[in-house]
Amino acid sequence: MMYADIVLPLAQPAYTFAVPEGMELRCGDAVAVQFGQRYIYTGIVWRLHGVRPDFKRVKSVGARLYDVPLLDERQMRFWEWMADYYMCTLGEVMRMALPSMAKPRGRSEEEFSAEVFRPRTEQYVVLAEAWRDAGALSAECDRIRRRAPRRCEALEALAAFGDEGRTEDGAIPRRLLDIDGAVLAALRKGGYVDVTERERRAERGGYPRFAPPRLTEVQARAADEIRASWASGVTTHLLRGVTGSGKTEIYMNLMAETLASGGDVLMLVPEIAFTAQLVERMERVFGSRVTAYHSKLTVLRRTETYMRLLHSEGGELVVGTRSALFLPLRRLRMIVVDEEHDPSYKQSDTAPRYNARDCAVVLASTFGGRVLLGSATPSLESYANALWHKYGYSVIEERYGGARQPDIIVSDTMRAVKRGERRSHFNIELIRAMEGALSRGEQVMLFQNRRGFSPFVSCRECGWTMRCPHCNVTLTMHKSSGRMECHYCGYTASVPRTCPQCGTADPAPMGFGTERVEERIAELFPEARVGRLDRDTSTSESAYNRIIKDFESGRSDILVGTQMITKGFDFGRVSVVGILNADNLLNSPDFRSSERAFQLMTQVAGRAGRRQTGGTVVIQTSEPENPVVRWVAAGDYDAMARSQLAERHAFSYPPYSRLVRLTLRDRDAVRLREGAVWLAGALRERFGRRVFGPVAPPVDRVREVFIVQIMLKIESGRPMSRARELLRGCLDRMAGEERLRQINVSVDVDVQ
Ligand code: ADP
Ligand code: ZN
Ligand code: ZN
Repeated sequence: MMYADIVLPLAQPAYTFAVPEGMELRCGDAVAVQFGQRYIYTGIVWRLHGVRPDFKRVKSVGARLYDVPLLDERQMRFWEWMADYYMCTLGEVMRMALPSMAKPRGRSEEEFSAEVFRPRTEQYVVLAEAWRDAGALSAECDRIRRRAPRRCEALEALAAFGDEGRTEDGAIPRRLLDIDGAVLAALRKGGYVDVTERERRAERGGYPRFAPPRLTEVQARAADEIRASWASGVTTHLLRGVTGSGKTEIYMNLMAETLASGGDVLMLVPEIAFTAQLVERMERVFGSRVTAYHSKLTVLRRTETYMRLLHSEGGELVVGTRSALFLPLRRLRMIVVDEEHDPSYKQSDTAPRYNARDCAVVLASTFGGRVLLGSATPSLESYANALWHKYGYSVIEERYGGARQPDIIVSDTMRAVKRGERRSHFNIELIRAMEGALSRGEQVMLFQNRRGFSPFVSCRECGWTMRCPHCNVTLTMHKSSGRMECHYCGYTASVPRTCPQCGTADPAPMGFGTERVEERIAELFPEARVGRLDRDTSTSESAYNRIIKDFESGRSDILVGTQMITKGFDFGRVSVVGILNADNLLNSPDFRSSERAFQLMTQVAGRAGRRQTGGTVVIQTSEPENPVVRWVAAGDYDAMARSQLAERHAFSYPPYSRLVRLTLRDRDAVRLREGAVWLAGALRERFGRRVFGPVAPPVDRVREVFIVQIMLKIESGRPMSRARELLRGCLDRMAGEERLRQINVSVDVDVQ
């Protein structure tokens, strides 16, 4: 009798099932199995063996679901590494790694039969027969130009489109055209174009030559260094290039080589918002080889992608967010991690709490591939790896095309207040810079890292603040909705008219968020058109795109926003960037706060003057002498990195140690305290002074659940596997304690 250990998408160890007579199974196969009384799951066959488990009724495997295994040997090793390193189960890796359609869970087997995969289709556009004659078209354009300039522009673009990219019958894939939906619909209605929906062309067989942009001398030197370090056997190379230096062009050149030889390339980006922009840019060079992948695609689309890649013959370029690491790219030779310092590469909220950048390095070594990490402001971990010669390292300090670095002005808020040179949230320097830009028809971006109108309201008389009844935080005032809102649980309440404690009228909104900035701009610059980009205004993808497009096309002059505006975008007409309050970036208690503040401010500053004109960045702060501000102003990454590394070394923080954070949660505050003290004690027996806490995090109650944390700091060079083993021992012992086992404990290895 054969048995199969099967991984189910649960926080459980693999479970053993019997393999029915005559069923052929391989490791990595997806199978349907019954688990518990009613549920049927998709599981992955992890191990086949002849050892009968010692429980009484051994259930049998239901059915094999696909004709090919979903995972190959190397992916299985990768999952195992992940579960071990990040201290979770294989089931938890599975839950995240496979699109949910490949692991349905239902009450009967019938629900699995709906295995329908649509082929990928896309729209193709072609000029209607009557308008293919150049003379006729240009006469028509002249006729309609005044009334419909955008339609006219689109028609001319269609007429001017070359042969490359067209199908045999001359149709052009819509994605290669920059025509918006409304214009295309109007053209179609007017009989100017024919639009068809067709299966996406896969140019298989033979690998075409690609034409990535020609590199400048400086870029070519960096690309050569990268090739050389890969050739010498160094797997990972770090490329530090200032914003606008053309890192993307370097990636494309190296990708072209890999793709042309039939290898697969994975390009990771930190946020979904970037994929669309980047995919467009990649498609212009690599056409239909490009696939976008992220968690907001429909389940069907993700499953399709997974299945298509299972059968791929190589030469794939996937651009995606961190979950793209789990796609079956069987010829994976190159992984690019763009903006490698970005904290969103780390999944912190659910297991596996993995860092996609670090996983990329492991995955590449499993596949014998190479990794390129790119950033204008690398993480100190990667920078240290470069210093220690574990990674190759290249630097580009100049922008492409002779674009100047922006001038950075540090504006002292205290001094401005004293001299009467501050109006609401704006110091005189910023106001002048904005006036200048707007009068020249240029654009302005303003960064404030809080959304809403004000982060709390407070009574002028007694100091009362309005707090969330379910969480230990103040409620944020949102003026547009007229509500007080909890940013942790979503609870809302009406804006208080009087203080419930002393009866004083109109508690005052304190501090400011993006919404309040927007309101003040309207007072200071009544003529300017203002856009706002934050989580409240970009509730859907289309809302988000509209705000970006409005700014891009000049329909708005000023864009106010949170972190969302800091990254990636290439707006040519932005000449002034304002950081409204650097203080709250500088003063967070985290050991990474200086590094983060530097990265964030440098990113924001990089949005200014992307073209030849250069630009101005105004940083408003009450600490103009703060070293981080001075490093940003000087554009001195190395000084920041060296100073921060010295500090990390002195206090044994990463990269000189690894941090493991245990978070304990319970509705019962007394039991939680007891459990935390017990666990910290048990850990101290094993780890001694490497244990810190228990301590309450800044927000120590969310949705009625209390939270306590314990930190473990393991010096680099000490074996982590041993540390994990000891830690597991302690957690198992805790689970054996009747009263404490109810406490939820989560483990976060390499916390961000
Ligand atoms: P980074 O990713 O380093 O911020 P980008 O790759 O976005 O920089 O380049 C900045 C701008 O310069 C882009 O508009 C890009 O098209 C242009 N650019 C950079 N290098 C080249 C090149 N070699 N040829 C043509 N355009 C380039
Ligand atoms: Zn009061
Ligand atoms: Zn709340």
